[in-house]
Amino acid sequence: MRSIVVIGAGFAGIGMALSLRRAGFTDVTVLERADDVGGVWRDNTYPGAACDVPSSLYSYSFAPNASWPRRYAEQPDILAYLRRTAEPVRDLVRTGCEVVGATRVDGRWRVDVAGGEVIECDVLISAVGQLSRPSVPDLPGRFGGPAFHSARWRHDVDLRGRRVAVIGTGASAVQFVPRVRRHARHVTVFQRTAPHVLPKPDRAHPSRWLGGRLGRVTTFLAGELLTAALTAGPASRAAVEALTGLHRFWRVRDPVLRAELTPGAPAGCRRLLFSNDWYPALTRPDVDVVTSPVAELTERGVRTADGVEHPADVLVYGTGFAAADFLGPLRVRGRDGRELADAWASGARAHLGVTVPGFPDFFLLYGPNTNLGGNSVLTMVESQIRYVLRVLRHFAHAPGVEVRAEVAEAFDAEVQRRLRRSVWSLCASWYRADGGRITTNWPGLVWEYRRRTARADPADFRIAGG
Ligand code: NAP
Repeated sequence: MRSIVVIGAGFAGIGMALSLRRAGFTDVTVLERADDVGGVWRDNTYPGAACDVPSSLYSYSFAPNASWPRRYAEQPDILAYLRRTAEPVRDLVRTGCEVVGATRVDGRWRVDVAGGEVIECDVLISAVGQLSRPSVPDLPGRFGGPAFHSARWRHDVDLRGRRVAVIGTGASAVQFVPRVRRHARHVTVFQRTAPHVLPKPDRAHPSRWLGGRLGRVTTFLAGELLTAALTAGPASRAAVEALTGLHRFWRVRDPVLRAELTPGAPAGCRRLLFSNDWYPALTRPDVDVVTSPVAELTERGVRTADGVEHPADVLVYGTGFAAADFLGPLRVRGRDGRELADAWASGARAHLGVTVPGFPDFFLLYGPNTNLGGNSVLTMVESQIRYVLRVLRHFAHAPGVEVRAEVAEAFDAEVQRRLRRSVWSLCASWYRADGGRITTNWPGLVWEYRRRTARADPADFRIAGG
């Protein structure tokens, strides 16, 4: 039986481990750098952290949970679900084990762990995610008070009665700003780009059908519809923009503030956001929205390009993650000493987001071009898990399997051609790498991805050995 190492114990890594065990693979190890499973749902503990995809679909189809306390579960409940779901494979998870590199040597993978340990395996599966490394802008100057990123929330910093500056207006900020302002004396939100925001049809104690399988199907179809609307063209996007415009009009009565909160880019170009309390929070007298660009940090606050210094006691970065820098500092060397960083010099790419030519028996979950703009990424991850299992089963007796270069190139050319015509090509966002290439997103519906990963065509692969 071949030995398998999975890097990362977030949603993808745990799902992979469960599926491998169920499929009869016995030599499986999950290496996790933190001290617990959970991935982003362990790390993002900011006030108000929740999922903006209904939990019926933001959970595994093979591990349904009929008792979500809300339609859109909050972070503690999602983490509890993941911990519970991980129980049957806890024995496979080694925590406090940070992978720093992996090298293909004599037909096997040599995995280097921080501290000097080396673990050998036959098959290597990366489940490190796209949104695990916080991105903090390198601003000039120095802020005198506590400053932290939303994904590294400092719960020891008491915000009661303090003036809080928040940089960023993405999916995280729209969740924590309304909570922070409840306790803070004042909140200043620095907005570089106004997002499109739709109401969140949340409710406590969803009915059994909404929380269960039927809810899963309807949520999936709604997500496909939303994706189609965002990606089909300007006419269908206009319908979404009309809805976000109505939401803004309804929630923000002050025309000056409303104008500031009106997005310049088309809906879906950056991630569409869902919130019922973002706009109400911004309309409060103790919350300011500042649209002049952040110029520098000062001892006592944040100075903007118009020369105004905005006083603050605490600074929170809601500035997102190094998403396009896949696998980041992890150094992967494949067959014949090929460096993954070189193969990805002009942007990460992988066949179906999963396999890379020159890197035998190496698989990626939630890899390049598998993120979504309108549906649950877990539906994609489930397809990838099944695809990896199909390849492993088919080539069970032929180690050293890698995707053919021409197959991967044709796939990449097709995906990039479609992405160049997509809504994501119309603005800058974390979906794009330096140079503008869209490296994170899948250009079609989940349905299409499922169909294309439903079978691992043996002709797409070669036995590379090495
Ligand atoms: P994000 O969406 O990347 O937003 C970062 C924000 O920071 C943007 O408003 C960005 O402005 C701003 N920003 C970045 N650098 C800046 C700078 N130097 N000066 C001023 N503003 C700056 O990050 P996020 O909100 O953490 O969310 C990241 C992703 O995590 C989401 O897109 C989503 O996929 C996931 N997420 C999901 C949920 C959920 O409910 N499922 C919740 C939170 C996060 P620009 O737009 O101008 O770049």
